[in-house]
Amino acid sequence: MYNSVVVHYGEIGIKGKNRSFFEKKLMDNLRWSLKKFNVSVRRSYGRLVLELKDETKIDEIKQKLTNIFGIAHFSFAVKTTLELEDIKKEILKLISDKTRTFRIKSTRSNKDFKFSSQELNNMLGEFVIKEKNLKVDLENPDQTFFVEITEKNSFVYTEKIKSVGGLPVGVSGKVISLISGGIDSPVASYFAMKRGCSVIYVHFFNSTINTKQSLEKLIKIVDSLSKYQFKTKLYLIPFEEIQKEIIKSVPSKYRMIVYRRFMFKIAEKILENEEAKALVTGDNLASVASQTIENLGVVYNVVKKPIITPLIGFDKIEIIQIAKRINTFELSILPYGDCCSYLIAEHPATKSNLTEIEFFERDIDIKKLINEAVQISEVRKFMN
Ligand code: ATP
Ligand code: MG
Repeated sequence: MYNSVVVHYGEIGIKGKNRSFFEKKLMDNLRWSLKKFNVSVRRSYGRLVLELKDETKIDEIKQKLTNIFGIAHFSFAVKTTLELEDIKKEILKLISDKTRTFRIKSTRSNKDFKFSSQELNNMLGEFVIKEKNLKVDLENPDQTFFVEITEKNSFVYTEKIKSVGGLPVGVSGKVISLISGGIDSPVASYFAMKRGCSVIYVHFFNSTINTKQSLEKLIKIVDSLSKYQFKTKLYLIPFEEIQKEIIKSVPSKYRMIVYRRFMFKIAEKILENEEAKALVTGDNLASVASQTIENLGVVYNVVKKPIITPLIGFDKIEIIQIAKRINTFELSILPYGDCCSYLIAEHPATKSNLTEIEFFERDIDIKKLINEAVQISEVRKFMN
């Protein structure tokens, strides 16, 4: 029945001079994601049109398209000519047996078309009433027939399928996401991708508290997030040597802050190697001791690059809802060892200041530890 997929992007359409760059990126991403389905992708006046050669793959294609950032909604459609008779014929074929009420919704990007959208609605509506004896219901019809008039063709379809919105992954450049295995950082990474970042992951672990299972869990989380971009890279960084050094010089109350300062320093080093542009974290203001505004200030002070914290405005309950929706929650709640809590005080300092933290760090060979950490890191790759 269907020979096309009409893909509508939301925000790209209003990006002015960048529009073409955004569209091309979305097309690349679509082609990559659908490479095994033998569909061709082309631009067509403010939308993308996929030519569907094998209708049996509709469910799989639908699954893919609902996870591509930059797509607002899409529809499996019949492409036909600009002739009224052809459009009518296609509408007839799409009417389901159960339908009693309907409406027609026409739009046209081709302003030279001989009828206005309203005229088209009226003519096609009258036709359906006469042929099938159905009733018009503009509010809550059994079926809506969408008719899109473009320069060369028209498209007829009955369903708009919502996708994830946002911007095509890659248009904003690369970022480094610090991912912990908790609930928040996977959601933060998702939002970075949603705004067009391609994400490289960095994870720190301490093998004296992190089991093999906790590493497997983290890998599952990254794997599940990898469906939104072409290729995904994960740096696994052993952290126990650094933690041992920190423990020697820093009182337990302040260790968590210093651990985190090292994590950020190392992540920044990887950012430079990868030519990425910013760091992303799951930090959420004031939710735990490590995330008071004072402590975040002391941690963020250690790097020069921008830090993106997509979750700053969310309540925990909202973050959990999103984690459930994007299917990372079930993985995140599996038990794991949090290396940030390795040998720290029961009540970590909630208000640290830079001078005292730098004082505790004065005897640590920071540069050497950071370089070593990057050197011994292991890289895992994931393909979409
Ligand atoms: P999350 O649910 O993401 O773990 P959280 O609310 O539990 O967040 P923390 O555990 O203090 O808070 O971590 C804050 C942020 O620091 C994380 O969102 C993540 O970006 C980063 N982070 C913490 N631990 C690690 C780790 N082991 N490896 C990489 N990044 C980490
Ligand atoms: Mg955590």
